[in-house]
Amino acid sequence: MNIILLGPPGAGKGTQAKMLIDEYQIPQISTGDILRAAVKEGTPLGKEAKSYMDKGELVPDSVVIGIVEERIQESDCAKGYMLDGFPRTVPQAEALDEMLSKLSAQIDHVVSIEVANEELIKRLTGRRTCRECGAGYHVMFDPPKAEGVCDKCGGELYQRDDDNEETVSSRLNVYEAQTLPLIDYYKVKGKIRPIDGVGEIKEIFGRITTVLS
Ligand code: ADP
Ligand code: ADP
Ligand code: ZN
Repeated sequence: MNIILLGPPGAGKGTQAKMLIDEYQIPQISTGDILRAAVKEGTPLGKEAKSYMDKGELVPDSVVIGIVEERIQESDCAKGYMLDGFPRTVPQAEALDEMLSKLSAQIDHVVSIEVANEELIKRLTGRRTCRECGAGYHVMFDPPKAEGVCDKCGGELYQRDDDNEETVSSRLNVYEAQTLPLIDYYKVKGKIRPIDGVGEIKEIFGRITTVLS
Protein backbone atom coordinates (compact mmCIF):
# COMPACT_ATOMS: atom_id res chain seq x y z
CA MET A 1 0.00 0.00 0.00
CA ASN A 2 1.44 3.37 -1.06
CA ILE A 3 0.09 6.26 0.98
CA ILE A 4 0.60 10.02 0.98
CA LEU A 5 0.03 11.99 4.19
CA LEU A 6 -1.00 15.47 3.12
CA GLY A 7 -1.68 18.40 5.41
CA PRO A 8 -0.35 21.72 6.64
CA PRO A 9 2.66 21.96 8.95
CA GLY A 10 1.53 20.82 12.40
CA ALA A 11 -1.47 18.80 11.16
CA GLY A 12 -0.09 15.68 12.82
CA LYS A 13 1.42 13.90 9.80
CA GLY A 14 4.57 12.80 11.63
CA THR A 15 2.65 11.79 14.77
CA GLN A 16 0.21 9.65 12.80
CA ALA A 17 2.91 8.26 10.50
CA LYS A 18 4.81 6.86 13.49
CA MET A 19 1.67 4.93 14.55
CA LEU A 20 0.65 3.91 11.02
CA ILE A 21 4.02 2.35 10.14
CA ASP A 22 3.61 -0.02 13.11
CA GLU A 23 0.09 -0.88 12.06
CA TYR A 24 0.86 -1.50 8.37
CA GLN A 25 4.55 -2.51 8.59
CA ILE A 26 5.66 -0.11 5.86
CA PRO A 27 8.36 2.59 6.17
CA GLN A 28 7.72 6.30 6.68
CA ILE A 29 9.49 8.51 4.15
CA SER A 30 9.67 12.03 5.56
CA THR A 31 11.48 14.47 3.27
CA GLY A 32 11.67 16.90 6.21
CA ASP A 33 13.48 14.28 8.35
CA ILE A 34 15.84 13.39 5.48
CA LEU A 35 16.67 17.06 4.91
CA ARG A 36 17.18 17.78 8.64
CA ALA A 37 19.55 14.80 8.88
CA ALA A 38 21.53 16.18 5.92
CA VAL A 39 21.70 19.63 7.54
CA LYS A 40 22.94 18.07 10.79
CA GLU A 41 25.63 16.10 8.95
CA GLY A 42 26.64 19.16 6.93
CA THR A 43 26.49 17.32 3.58
CA PRO A 44 26.29 19.30 0.30
CA LEU A 45 22.55 18.56 0.24
CA GLY A 46 22.22 19.85 3.80
CA LYS A 47 24.13 23.02 3.00
CA GLU A 48 21.85 23.74 0.03
CA ALA A 49 18.64 22.93 1.93
CA LYS A 50 19.38 24.86 5.14
CA SER A 51 18.86 28.38 3.80
CA TYR A 52 15.41 27.50 2.46
CA MET A 53 14.37 25.62 5.59
CA ASP A 54 15.44 28.44 7.91
CA LYS A 55 13.21 30.86 6.00
CA GLY A 56 10.26 28.45 5.94
CA GLU A 57 10.50 28.19 2.15
CA LEU A 58 10.43 25.00 0.12
CA VAL A 59 13.64 23.35 -0.99
CA PRO A 60 13.77 23.25 -4.84
CA ASP A 61 11.62 20.56 -6.46
CA SER A 62 14.53 18.93 -8.31
CA VAL A 63 16.33 18.29 -5.01
CA VAL A 64 13.48 16.59 -3.17
CA ILE A 65 12.28 14.68 -6.24
CA GLY A 66 15.74 13.11 -6.56
CA ILE A 67 15.72 12.10 -2.88
CA VAL A 68 12.31 10.41 -3.13
CA GLU A 69 13.06 8.68 -6.43
CA GLU A 70 16.06 6.94 -4.85
CA ARG A 71 14.34 6.19 -1.56
CA ILE A 72 11.22 4.46 -2.94
CA GLN A 73 13.38 2.01 -4.85
CA GLU A 74 15.12 0.70 -1.74
CA SER A 75 14.25 -2.86 -0.71
CA ASP A 76 12.22 -1.95 2.40
CA CYS A 77 9.75 -0.09 0.15
CA ALA A 78 8.82 -3.20 -1.84
CA LYS A 79 5.54 -3.73 0.05
CA GLY A 80 4.64 -0.05 0.15
CA TYR A 81 5.49 3.14 2.00
CA MET A 82 4.06 6.22 3.61
CA LEU A 83 5.13 9.55 2.15
CA ASP A 84 5.10 12.28 4.82
CA GLY A 85 5.66 15.82 3.56
CA PHE A 86 6.05 14.86 -0.09
CA PRO A 87 4.72 15.86 -2.59
CA ARG A 88 4.34 19.51 -1.61
CA THR A 89 3.96 21.16 -5.04
CA VAL A 90 2.17 20.22 -8.27
CA PRO A 91 5.49 19.62 -10.11
CA GLN A 92 6.50 17.21 -7.29
CA ALA A 93 3.18 15.35 -7.65
CA GLU A 94 3.63 15.13 -11.42
CA ALA A 95 7.18 13.84 -11.00
CA LEU A 96 5.92 11.25 -8.50
CA ASP A 97 3.28 10.05 -10.98
CA GLU A 98 5.95 9.74 -13.62
CA MET A 99 8.32 7.70 -11.41
CA LEU A 100 5.48 5.46 -10.24
CA SER A 101 4.33 4.73 -13.77
CA LYS A 102 7.90 3.73 -14.70
CA LEU A 103 7.83 1.32 -11.74
CA SER A 104 4.28 0.12 -12.65
CA ALA A 105 3.09 1.31 -9.25
CA GLN A 106 0.55 3.82 -7.98
CA ILE A 107 -0.61 5.81 -4.98
CA ASP A 108 -3.54 4.11 -3.23
CA HIS A 109 -4.67 6.79 -0.78
CA VAL A 110 -3.95 10.45 -0.11
CA VAL A 111 -4.85 11.03 3.54
CA SER A 112 -5.60 14.75 3.82
CA ILE A 113 -5.44 15.87 7.47
CA GLU A 114 -7.42 19.06 8.08
CA VAL A 115 -6.67 21.47 10.95
CA ALA A 116 -7.36 25.24 11.17
CA ASN A 117 -4.44 27.71 11.26
CA GLU A 118 -5.04 28.95 14.82
CA GLU A 119 -4.61 25.40 16.16
CA LEU A 120 -1.60 24.77 13.88
CA ILE A 121 0.28 27.73 15.36
CA LYS A 122 -0.27 26.39 18.90
CA ARG A 123 0.86 22.93 17.86
CA LEU A 124 4.01 24.05 16.04
CA THR A 125 5.28 26.52 18.62
CA GLY A 126 4.89 23.86 21.38
CA ARG A 127 6.35 20.98 19.38
CA ARG A 128 9.36 19.12 20.79
CA THR A 129 11.30 16.33 19.07
CA CYS A 130 13.71 13.70 20.39
CA ARG A 131 17.27 14.20 19.16
CA GLU A 132 17.96 10.47 19.39
CA CYS A 133 14.87 8.63 18.07
CA GLY A 134 12.81 11.40 16.42
CA ALA A 135 9.71 10.86 18.59
CA GLY A 136 7.40 13.88 18.67
CA TYR A 137 5.87 15.59 21.70
CA HIS A 138 3.98 18.75 22.58
CA VAL A 139 4.61 20.75 25.74
CA MET A 140 0.86 20.94 26.47
CA PHE A 141 -1.00 18.51 24.19
CA ASP A 142 1.34 15.50 24.37
CA PRO A 143 3.95 16.14 27.08
CA PRO A 144 6.70 13.67 27.99
CA LYS A 145 6.64 12.19 31.52
CA ALA A 146 9.78 14.16 32.46
CA GLU A 147 10.27 17.63 30.95
CA GLY A 148 12.80 17.67 28.12
CA VAL A 149 13.37 13.89 28.14
CA CYS A 150 12.07 11.34 25.64
CA ASP A 151 9.76 8.69 27.17
CA LYS A 152 10.84 6.11 24.62
CA CYS A 153 14.64 6.36 24.70
CA GLY A 154 15.67 8.93 27.33
CA GLY A 155 17.05 11.22 24.59
CA GLU A 156 17.06 15.00 24.83
CA LEU A 157 14.05 16.86 23.42
CA TYR A 158 14.68 19.94 21.29
CA GLN A 159 12.67 22.61 19.51
CA ARG A 160 13.11 22.75 15.73
CA ASP A 161 14.73 25.98 14.43
CA ASP A 162 11.78 26.56 12.08
CA ASP A 163 9.11 26.19 14.79
CA ASN A 164 9.35 29.84 15.89
CA GLU A 165 6.30 32.07 15.33
CA GLU A 166 7.75 34.04 12.40
CA THR A 167 8.87 31.01 10.37
CA VAL A 168 5.65 29.16 11.19
CA SER A 169 3.67 31.99 9.66
CA SER A 170 5.65 31.85 6.40
CA ARG A 171 5.34 28.05 6.30
CA LEU A 172 1.56 28.35 6.58
CA ASN A 173 1.54 30.86 3.70
CA VAL A 174 3.76 28.60 1.61
CA TYR A 175 1.41 25.69 2.33
CA GLU A 176 -1.63 27.62 1.12
CA ALA A 177 0.07 28.88 -2.03
CA GLN A 178 2.01 25.79 -3.11
CA THR A 179 0.64 22.66 -1.43
CA LEU A 180 -3.12 23.24 -1.10
CA PRO A 181 -3.59 22.84 -4.92
CA LEU A 182 -2.61 19.18 -4.46
CA ILE A 183 -5.99 18.48 -2.86
CA ASP A 184 -7.69 19.18 -6.19
CA TYR A 185 -4.93 17.38 -8.06
CA TYR A 186 -5.67 14.15 -6.16
CA LYS A 187 -9.42 14.74 -5.85
CA VAL A 188 -9.73 14.54 -9.63
CA LYS A 189 -7.93 11.19 -9.47
CA GLY A 190 -10.32 9.93 -6.75
CA LYS A 191 -7.54 9.48 -4.19
CA ILE A 192 -8.34 12.07 -1.50
CA ARG A 193 -9.43 10.76 1.92
CA PRO A 194 -10.27 13.82 4.05
CA ILE A 195 -9.66 13.40 7.79
CA ASP A 196 -10.70 15.80 10.55
CA GLY A 197 -7.35 16.35 12.32
CA VAL A 198 -8.77 17.87 15.50
CA GLY A 199 -9.23 15.64 18.55
CA GLU A 200 -7.22 13.10 20.52
CA ILE A 201 -4.21 11.63 18.70
CA LYS A 202 -5.61 8.07 19.09
CA GLU A 203 -9.03 9.12 17.86
CA ILE A 204 -7.51 10.56 14.67
CA PHE A 205 -5.49 7.36 14.21
CA GLY A 206 -8.81 5.47 14.34
CA ARG A 207 -10.31 7.75 11.69
CA ILE A 208 -7.37 7.11 9.37
CA THR A 209 -7.25 3.32 9.79
CA THR A 210 -11.01 3.15 9.17
CA VAL A 211 -10.57 4.95 5.87
CA LEU A 212 -7.56 2.82 4.84
CA SER A 213 -9.21 -0.53 5.53
P1 ADP B 1 3.37 17.55 11.12
O1 ADP B 1 4.26 16.35 10.91
O2 ADP B 1 2.12 17.47 10.30
O3 ADP B 1 4.09 18.85 10.95
P2 ADP B 1 3.40 16.72 13.94
O4 ADP B 1 2.94 15.31 13.89
O5 ADP B 1 4.82 16.98 14.18
O6 ADP B 1 2.89 17.51 12.62
O7 ADP B 1 2.53 17.46 15.07
C1 ADP B 1 2.75 18.83 15.38
C2 ADP B 1 2.64 19.04 16.89
O8 ADP B 1 1.27 18.85 17.29
C3 ADP B 1 3.46 18.08 17.73
O9 ADP B 1 3.95 18.76 18.85
C4 ADP B 1 2.45 16.99 18.16
O10 ADP B 1 2.78 16.43 19.41
C5 ADP B 1 1.17 17.80 18.24
N1 ADP B 1 -0.03 17.02 17.85
C6 ADP B 1 -0.14 16.04 16.93
N2 ADP B 1 -1.39 15.57 16.86
C7 ADP B 1 -2.12 16.31 17.74
C8 ADP B 1 -3.50 16.31 18.12
N3 ADP B 1 -4.38 15.47 17.57
N4 ADP B 1 -3.89 17.20 19.06
C9 ADP B 1 -2.99 18.05 19.63
N5 ADP B 1 -1.68 18.11 19.30
C10 ADP B 1 -1.25 17.24 18.37
P1 ADP C 1 6.21 20.28 8.62
O1 ADP C 1 6.24 20.02 10.07
O2 ADP C 1 6.07 21.71 8.26
O3 ADP C 1 5.28 19.43 7.88
P2 ADP C 1 8.64 19.14 7.39
O4 ADP C 1 9.52 18.50 8.36
O5 ADP C 1 7.85 18.28 6.47
O6 ADP C 1 7.73 20.14 8.18
O7 ADP C 1 9.47 20.16 6.48
C1 ADP C 1 10.38 21.09 7.03
C2 ADP C 1 11.01 21.90 5.91
O8 ADP C 1 11.74 21.03 5.03
C3 ADP C 1 10.03 22.62 5.00
O9 ADP C 1 9.66 23.88 5.50
C4 ADP C 1 10.86 22.74 3.70
O10 ADP C 1 11.81 23.76 3.78
C5 ADP C 1 11.60 21.41 3.68
N1 ADP C 1 10.85 20.35 2.96
C6 ADP C 1 10.37 19.19 3.48
N2 ADP C 1 9.74 18.47 2.54
C7 ADP C 1 9.81 19.19 1.40
C8 ADP C 1 9.32 19.01 0.07
N3 ADP C 1 8.61 17.91 -0.28
N4 ADP C 1 9.58 19.97 -0.84
C9 ADP C 1 10.30 21.07 -0.53
N5 ADP C 1 10.76 21.33 0.69
C10 ADP C 1 10.53 20.40 1.66
ZN1 ZN D 1 13.66 9.31 21.89
